[in-house]
Amino acid sequence: MGDVVCYLPAKAGWDRSAQGVLGAGRRLADSLGAKLRAVVLGPTDEALVQGAAAVSDSVAVADHPLLAEYHPETFLAALVAICKPLAPRAVLLGNDTYGQELAARLAHRLGGSAAGDAVGIAVAGDKLHVTRGVYGGKATAVIALVRSPGVVWLRARAMDPADPAGRAPGEVQKVTVDLAADPRVKVVSRHVEAKEGVKLEEARVIVSGGRGLGGPEPFKQLQELATTMGAQMAASRAACDAGWVPASWQVGQTGKKVAPELYLAIAISGASQHIMGIADSKVITAINRDPDAPIFKHCSFGLVEDYQKVIGPLREKLAKNG
Ligand SMILES: Cc1cc2nc3c(=O)[nH]c(=O)nc-3n(C[C@H](O)[C@H](O)[C@H](O)COP(=O)(O)OP(=O)(O)OC[C@H]3O[C@@H](n4cnc5c(N)ncnc54)[C@H](O)[C@@H]3O)c2cc1C
Repeated sequence: MGDVVCYLPAKAGWDRSAQGVLGAGRRLADSLGAKLRAVVLGPTDEALVQGAAAVSDSVAVADHPLLAEYHPETFLAALVAICKPLAPRAVLLGNDTYGQELAARLAHRLGGSAAGDAVGIAVAGDKLHVTRGVYGGKATAVIALVRSPGVVWLRARAMDPADPAGRAPGEVQKVTVDLAADPRVKVVSRHVEAKEGVKLEEARVIVSGGRGLGGPEPFKQLQELATTMGAQMAASRAACDAGWVPASWQVGQTGKKVAPELYLAIAISGASQHIMGIADSKVITAINRDPDAPIFKHCSFGLVEDYQKVIGPLREKLAKNG
């Protein structure tokens, strides 16, 4: 019976994704009667290491000059080097781009099975069962992982964190990994996008705009509303593809997966690919002038109206009420 490994990228820090991965890992390890082993790769982040130690049985921290910046081959090699001797039953990763990229390769290298976009993972007899949405979130599938380890990337932000109460912190070990630069892939330039406020994936309130806004100008009005609400801005793919807003604002199947307390969709139709990115929101609400827009099927409540008649008065009212 192998243990459960949770991979945590040091660069992301002690964020909601790390907490969700560890929460799922802790529950899985407990139901297997196994140990939870956190693996942190990259320049040491104390908050992450201590947060992980509080809910894990051990934390392996691997720092190396080649782990300072993400590179698929070196990060994969480090994970294989650490995981192989452990012969784990499961390896869990978050649903950032890198976790998704690493999971399938890691499963292959460890001789296991891979699954992604999991909203649940459980033990069923001698197999691990992974629950995930299919058909754009319209149905749920349960996948039995045939080989061990099961390497699974999770919708980590939708997973409850583990409770550290009553648990002695796990032992933190620095591990040395032997890595060589991969000559096949070279980073030729790096563009860091200026970011304000919290990460979209961490946001508690999101105001999101779609193609129905008609151009980049109305997004300024939405931004004012978002500022009044203390919200982050997001958009549909149609609005991003049109170049009205940065691509980093896109939520959905091929964009970010968000899980806010409140998601306000303005002039967004609610295509299944968009819903896939917002399905973990606690409350979804929408403003759309089409009463038959699919988004209303996913809303706790919504408003059938031209957004232009609503945004200004809504912002004024919210500003007045503080
Ligand atoms: C493989 C694949 C992956 C994809 N990934 C994503 C993804 O990650 N994210 C994503 O968002 N999409 C994704 N898409 C695209 C998706 O299918 C839709 O095309 C897209 O979400 C539509 O964006 P939208 O709702 O802004 O535009 P539309 O579908 O054009 O909807 C505009 C809405 O605005 C409303 N409207 C118009 N004017 C007003 C007004 N004045 N006031 C109020 N409402 C108004 C309309 O009634 C309509 O409902 C993907 C598609 C594919 C094939």
